[in-house]
Amino acid sequence: MRFSVEALRAEKGAVMLLDMRKELPPIDLGRSRLSFVGPVEFVGQATNTGRRIVVMGSAKARALAFCDRCLEEFAMDLATPISESYYRADEPPAAPDEDERVYGDDDVIDMSSDIEQAFVLALPIRIVCRDDCRGLCPRCGHDLNRGECSCSPCGD
Ligand SMILES: [Zn+2]
Ligand SMILES: [Zn+2]
Repeated sequence: MRFSVEALRAEKGAVMLLDMRKELPPIDLGRSRLSFVGPVEFVGQATNTGRRIVVMGSAKARALAFCDRCLEEFAMDLATPISESYYRADEPPAAPDEDERVYGDDDVIDMSSDIEQAFVLALPIRIVCRDDCRGLCPRCGHDLNRGECSCSPCGD
């Protein structure tokens, strides 16, 4: 998810359209993992606002995740708006915000980790394969989506 801003930097107010696709490695979520199926897509635009390059757009991808209830792997669609501000490391604005990003003197912005972070922030607190996933029996661990187990239905 890299693009050069060399031409964009020439003129304040200049806008560049972005339409990128790239394979990204899996994201470690701590308790589980998100692996992308096919390329991650980003469509949007980059604007030279003077000291900064502001990137707005949306990212989407299909990913395999593990259900927090039944622990099965399933495919989910990810989509999130992206709004990031970048400045060149050797040309910082007077008062950069702490969430602003930096690029180097090669004039290349790499959005990969920013897009990964946006996907992670957009995830629900509990990732479930479907709303009515019944999860695992707390006593024997049987996947209740595949039918009842032989434990007492009242749970005692
Ligand atoms: Zn599930
Ligand atoms: Zn059971």
